[in-house]
Amino acid sequence: MKSIKDKLLKAIDILDIKSTNCEITHSKDLNKLINQINKQLPKRPLDYDSLINDFKHQIIPLLNQNTSPNYAAYITGSSTEIGAIAEFIKGYYNQNGLKWINSPITSELEKLVVKWISEFILLPNFNHGMLTTGGSMSNLLAIHFSLANAYPNREYNGIPSDKIKVYSSDQTHSSVERAMVFLGLGRNSLVKISTDKSYKVNTEELEKRIKSDKASGYTPLIIIGNAGTTNTGAIDNLLELSKISNKYNTWFHIDGAYGLPAIRLKKLRARFHGASFADSITVNPHKWMYVPFEASCLLLKKIPIAINFTPDYLDDFSSEQRMISDQTIELTKEFRALKIWLTLKYYGADQISQFIENDIFLINYLSKKLKILDFVEIHPESELSILCFRFISENLNETQTERLNILSLKLIKENRSIFFTGTRLNNKVYMRIFFGNPNRKKKDVKFMLKKIIEVYNHSIKQI
Ligand SMILES: *Cc1c(COP(=O)(O)O)cnc(C)c1O
Repeated sequence: MKSIKDKLLKAIDILDIKSTNCEITHSKDLNKLINQINKQLPKRPLDYDSLINDFKHQIIPLLNQNTSPNYAAYITGSSTEIGAIAEFIKGYYNQNGLKWINSPITSELEKLVVKWISEFILLPNFNHGMLTTGGSMSNLLAIHFSLANAYPNREYNGIPSDKIKVYSSDQTHSSVERAMVFLGLGRNSLVKISTDKSYKVNTEELEKRIKSDKASGYTPLIIIGNAGTTNTGAIDNLLELSKISNKYNTWFHIDGAYGLPAIRLKKLRARFHGASFADSITVNPHKWMYVPFEASCLLLKKIPIAINFTPDYLDDFSSEQRMISDQTIELTKEFRALKIWLTLKYYGADQISQFIENDIFLINYLSKKLKILDFVEIHPESELSILCFRFISENLNETQTERLNILSLKLIKENRSIFFTGTRLNNKVYMRIFFGNPNRKKKDVKFMLKKIIEVYNHSIKQI
């Protein structure tokens, strides 16, 4: 019998394949490999060496190397070694924070790291909060709390939801629309306000719309501002939003899932002015704080509701009845705080700020290098660590330009030595690069640049 130490060492040996593998997305024989995975329910035990061997040959070739500096897709946080170690420990001890007494440290460390996160983003006046699976859950809970605040009897009576309006910009993350569906408010109750040329919400239009909705008998519930949109990293005028929210007595939520940690950088701080006036804030440690998935944090100034669901089988028959699960949807609660605690202690807030600064420095470096090329159009100017650009050529009309960029994205996907994806801005297809990896160096960006130029040279010939 192997000890856990031996087993771990063997597993780690397999992981080392990664550093010699220059393909950063899954193998091109994806479907073939998926078909090769043995689909039968295993009935008998498999010895550890064979198991690891299966893992090596059936699973590893299908992994995307998200932690590679050449991976720049979506907003994929890179994680770190200390984060990976935390995840192992979490699984080993398998704490369940469903009740305080069942794992006091799960609840207590969560309280502590929530406080640390609020201090990390320089907003220590948010004294409450919770860790969640992701920004989508945090945003959903924020809308839930805004409802609980506005309708104290909702817990028992529900609400007539067809008169409620939720306001955000047309750049707001799709999780808000998803929350509208899951909370039963409906997609039509989400008012998407247009944005200006730098993709920040038009606050005048917002106020006009709130006024006219009120005149038509609707109730403005919540304004959701962006502190770093997913598309381009745009930061709304949060101070202006807080004033409008105050004036019309709505809840004010800030979705800073991606961008808020950049508030730590002096040169960007003023851009987040007004954030402290929010009622709730979403920030994802699993994005720009380099913590492994899944880790988001919802910060609040007050928690308007704690729903007591304690059934008989969770009764402690003592005075010790605290349930952190009374604030969220899930009952079983993993020891999510551990990876954040370990990451913040291992690096310290200052070094994590330097990682963020490095990401922004490198995206600006890439932007500068791309700008020199006459076949590249950058739009908009990036403020955080997202860069959108497209290939252009004098000889191409809009349709051909779109084809050129879609083809280029396809070539990047097939090439597999670098990886990023695209988006649409003003109805035009753009390529989109996200940097959020402490291991990325200038030489990696140079490599990416070289590949981008190669892709252009290939795709332009085919238009
Ligand atoms: C990523 C993101 C979300 C959703 O977060 P998940 O963790 O993927 O659920 C919400 N808002 C913004 C601005 C994001 O960038």
